[in-house]
Formats: sequence, C-alpha cells, structure tokens
Amino acid sequence: MVVIGDAHRGTAVLDRPDELDDDLFTVAVQQFDIAADVLGLEDYLRRILSHCQRELTVHFPVEMDDGSVQVFAGHRVRHSSLPGPTKGGIRYHQSVTISEVKALAMWMTWKCAVVGLPYGGAKGGVQVNPKLLSQNEIQNLTRRYTAEIQPFIGPNIDIPAPDVNTNPQVMAWIMDTYSMNVGYSVPGVVTGKPLELGGSAGRSEATGRGCVFAIEEAAKSRGMSLSSSRTAVQGFGNAGSVAAKLMAEHDSPVVAVSDSRGGIHNPNGLDLDRVAIHKRRTGSVSGFREAEDITNEEILEIDCEILIPAALEGQITSRNASRIKAQIIAEAANGPTSPGADTILFDRGIFVLPDIFANAGGVTVSYFEWVQALQAFPWSEEQVNERLRDIMQRSYVSVLETSRKYGVHMRTAALVRAIDRIADFSRTRGIYP
Ligand code: NAD
Repeated sequence: MVVIGDAHRGTAVLDRPDELDDDLFTVAVQQFDIAADVLGLEDYLRRILSHCQRELTVHFPVEMDDGSVQVFAGHRVRHSSLPGPTKGGIRYHQSVTISEVKALAMWMTWKCAVVGLPYGGAKGGVQVNPKLLSQNEIQNLTRRYTAEIQPFIGPNIDIPAPDVNTNPQVMAWIMDTYSMNVGYSVPGVVTGKPLELGGSAGRSEATGRGCVFAIEEAAKSRGMSLSSSRTAVQGFGNAGSVAAKLMAEHDSPVVAVSDSRGGIHNPNGLDLDRVAIHKRRTGSVSGFREAEDITNEEILEIDCEILIPAALEGQITSRNASRIKAQIIAEAANGPTSPGADTILFDRGIFVLPDIFANAGGVTVSYFEWVQALQAFPWSEEQVNERLRDIMQRSYVSVLETSRKYGVHMRTAALVRAIDRIADFSRTRGIYP
C-alpha cells in the first residue's frame, strides 16, 4: 500500500510493503513486526527495515542444446546495505518468485546480524527447474544471468553464494563471467567457490555443521543426550545430508530422511552411506530397501526427538504444528515455519532453533572464505570448524539470554538481537542526504 505523505511537496511514503497476500515476504514482515514490537523500535526504522533497499528483475534468453531459445526470469534483491556489502545465495528452482527472494534477502540481513558478520542481506534466484537442463544449458543460463545482474554485484557490493540447486561449479561460472566482463580475475565476487579457485575448506559442509553445533548447544541446555535422541531430516541435499551425517556421528539414530520425491523411515536408524549410494543410483532416497517409504508431510510428524527441516519454506504451519513430536526443531532450511506454527510450537514446549541462527553456518564460513581471500592466507579445515563452533556457541548463548530476558521464543529473540544491531547502524549513520 502506498500512502501519500505530503502531496504538496510531492513526497510519497511507502507505509507497508505492497504485497499483503499471505506470501513469503509477508511472513518475513510479520516476524519482523513481532520483534519490532518487543524492541519498541522507532516507527521510521520499522518503515525502512520492512522494505528491501534494491530489487532487480531480469528476463534473459538462453540458447538450449537443441538450438531453441528459452527466456528465463531471475531476480537479485538487496535488503539492507547498512552494515556493509550484502551477502546471500542464488537459488535455481521452478517456484522462485520475487516475494520469496525478498523474504530470503531480509532473513539474510538478520542472519548476518545474529552471528555478528559485517554484511547486509541479499538473495537471488532464477525461475527454472535445473533438473530438466543439461550441464551446458545450466552453464549458459548461469553466465547470462550473471551478465544481467553484473551491475548489482561485486566483491565490495553484493556477494552471491550457493543455495538450492546451485553449487561450487555454478559459483565458478559466476566468478569467471564477472571476471571476463571486468577484464581481470575477481575471486571475491562469490563465495562457496571450488577450493582451487580460492574456496574455503569446510564451506560445503558449513550449513549442516553449523546446524549440528546449534543442536549440540540446545541439547546441552535442555539436558538431552544426542545419542539417545532420534533425528529426522526433511531434504537430503547439501544442508540436510551433512546435518544427518554429523548427527549420526554423534550416535543419534537418523530414523527418516526425504527429498523432493518423498521420504524413507526406519525406526532403528538408517545406514546413511547406503542411502547416499541409493540416491546417487536412482536420483532419490525413496525406494530404499531397508526402510519404509513415507511422504514429505509424514516425515515432519514422525516419532523423533530432533527434526531438521532442510528443504524449502512453508513446511510447518498451523495445520501440522500440533502433530509434531520432536522436542527440538533445527531449521537448516530458510523459512520452514509459519508465524502461526511458531505460536503452537512455543505453547507445546517444542524448542525451535530458528533459521536465522540455525543455518548461519553457511554464511559464516562464506565470511571466512572472504577473509582468507583478503589475507591471501588459507586456514585449515580444523581452524574453520573451530571458529565456526565458537561463533555458533556464542550466538546461541546471546539468543537464549535475549529469549529469557523478553520471555519470547528463540525466533523472536534472534530477530530482536538482529534488528537492534541493524537499527543501530541506521541511527548512527543517519539518513542520507
Ligand atoms: P539443495 O538443493 O542441496 O537440497 C535441497 C534438498 O531439498 C534436495 O534434497 C531436494 O530434493 C529437497 N527438496 C526440494 N523440495 C522438497 C520438498 N518439497 N520436500 C522435501 N524435500 C525437498 O539445497 P541446500 O543448499 O541444501 O538448501 C536447503 C535449504 O537450506 C534451503 O532452504 C536453503 O535456503 C537453506 N540454506 C542453504 C545454505 C547453503 O549453504 N547451501 C545456507 C543456508 C540455508
């Protein structure tokens, strides 16, 4: 909704984001509003921070292997550059929308602030099902999308990273395209690069590993032993498969995992190496012989102590929150839980480690990659993992303290900390001009 502030002077004030449908950006703003109320945030800061600073939509052609030309839509959104350059992944998925990208960009701002990184939030996405494309077509699409968003990104401006269906190879193509266009190599334009191009040890495991560090802290403070806690993981991709493997290394029986085609359940625990082999061979975890097939809805309600949603947003809602049996939900995915579900889970005593904290391991090690590049001094994987553990532990303690101080659940507590930090940047920097 656009509210005309002072028509005589020709100023127009955006009072609220224009999408008031129940889309993902609305969810992000609802969460923001709850935390802003707790903080008593000044009205002008509410209006600034509930909008995205810059939004770019591009439509671009890609030549396919059969010689035909297809036109794709892509976005890159920067929510806030108050703390420094912006940072956030690029997603390839058929359901990408501008609203989704805006929500993910806003969450990136809060995520970086929760763990104390010197970045604002951004996100990108292309509306495409990459499973229907060849490697060559994905490369063409990546290079053209990069050229389209090139004026928007840069090592001191906005630094992309991997997200759903993008990986170190895609980052290498982005880095190469950007570098060819400016005429010299710019490794700092993306993180999550392959090691040989200046990637960081431990980056590809960082999101799952950070999530498990968060679970360790939560289990400790709740007196739970991981070895007697069963784990279920929705989404057996980068974040989910690593989290599952690390939980199994803690002797937690991983009783269920799933991917976009469905899930599998074995109450005695799955052999994850064999599941990974089965997935490589068939393209999915479902149909694994040593388990029973279940749906992606059923996995959320399975008997377990720890649930890790690691797929897409909007999975836990007020429709299924009352049937969830887990005691801890660790959000490796972004936005898996709706605000309505948050209230139900809180009332039921289920402890939610919110996305902006629980999956911050990825952007934290991206930050380490950036720092190592600036120093031209690579760290060992042990150093990376120890520094990540330290940041996750300290952030957990501060979010938990905020939650106790205000009597709010962990999501609102994490948001309160993040918003307070970003608001301080704005108060101190002032309003330009
Ligand atoms: P990925 O593409 O590696 O894996 C996604 C997995 O989810 C795949 O196994 C896919 O089959 C599955 N999936 C897709 N739709 C599903 C559905 N409807 N139900 C169940 N499973 C489904 O992606 P990723 O990088 O692991 O990202 C997963 C989540 O983690 C996303 O929400 C992403 O934003 C978040 N995340 C990722 C990173 C990172 O560093 N990769 C960092 C922070 C947050």
